[in-house]
Amino acid sequence: MPARVLDGTFVAHQIRAEVGPAVAAFAARAGRPPGLGIVLVGDSPASEIYVRNKLKSAGEAGVRADLSRLQATASLAELLEIVERLNRSEAHDGILVQSPLPEAMGPDAERRVFDAIRPDKDVDGFHPINVGRLVQNRATLVAATPSGIVELLERSNITIAGARAVVVGRSDIVGKPTALLLLHRNATVTVCHSRTADLPRVAAEADLLVVAIGRAAFVTKAFVKPGATVIDVGVNRLVDRAEVERVFAPGSKGRQDFERRGSVLVGDVHPDVAEAAGALTPVPGGVGPLTIAMLLKNTLCAAQERAGGAG
Ligand code: NDP
Repeated sequence: MPARVLDGTFVAHQIRAEVGPAVAAFAARAGRPPGLGIVLVGDSPASEIYVRNKLKSAGEAGVRADLSRLQATASLAELLEIVERLNRSEAHDGILVQSPLPEAMGPDAERRVFDAIRPDKDVDGFHPINVGRLVQNRATLVAATPSGIVELLERSNITIAGARAVVVGRSDIVGKPTALLLLHRNATVTVCHSRTADLPRVAAEADLLVVAIGRAAFVTKAFVKPGATVIDVGVNRLVDRAEVERVFAPGSKGRQDFERRGSVLVGDVHPDVAEAAGALTPVPGGVGPLTIAMLLKNTLCAAQERAGGAG
């Protein structure tokens, strides 16, 4: 039986439909909408698309979103100055600095910028204070992709408590916070990474397998216990025909998309996993839409907390 598709676009729509009226209620009470300051450095096409989508979704939800742009050649000091301005701003409840930052800013630029954002405006949930609160299971602002994954599981009635969960990838923005959220919901969690021995065997023990590694179609059905739920966080663009032919079967939608556009998106999970999994997120249309919905939810939450917790 083919895997049930976990429709992230639908769940994201549900969340946004809940956030919209709460945003309007906040605006009526506070005399201003929740505000989000987005900072974009450089002109990476992928970041441009992410930022455009965030601005559009914020506008649709009634959240004020302002974009500050810096050239790719800007200094770290210039960026920190913008963050400081947003930290002080009364109109902005959330601050988001789009990553990745240009390499020229230095190897520790991202960490320094995320550390500089006021924790109560840290809608990405990357500040060490918010990460610490997450570890202690008392977080208000949690990274958007991991909290989106949990929303998707819960709203799709996938049992987390007692499940054997395996998270492949240990990044600060996806793997680690996802593992913590699942642990707090009483899953038994294993975190894997590039040095994990016999990854397919460990992954195949999972009732719930979350993959966030950034490697196109890496996880095949040999990694998946029959009936497991598989969450594919990866977003990889394939432009090479041989690779597309390795991943997508003749006549598949992936091949058709490639023929039409010259490139095609694929997750970290191979399409053949649909033959083994019980439930699976598509790419695109799985985890991605939830990330933006949870960012809006975090912005509302930050606004409410700053206004004194008045729901
Ligand atoms: P990072 O590059 O920061 O981390 C990748 C992790 O995967 C590392 O922990 C790394 O291990 C591990 N890894 C890499 N190769 C292997 C391997 N062969 N076997 C096992 N583990 C491996 O990536 P991110 O967490 O930022 O992102 C992961 C993916 O998710 C990317 O495709 C990204 O585009 C996507 N993404 C999607 C989002 C969405 O909204 N849909 C949001 C954020 C990310 P080690 O630590 O040992 O190096």
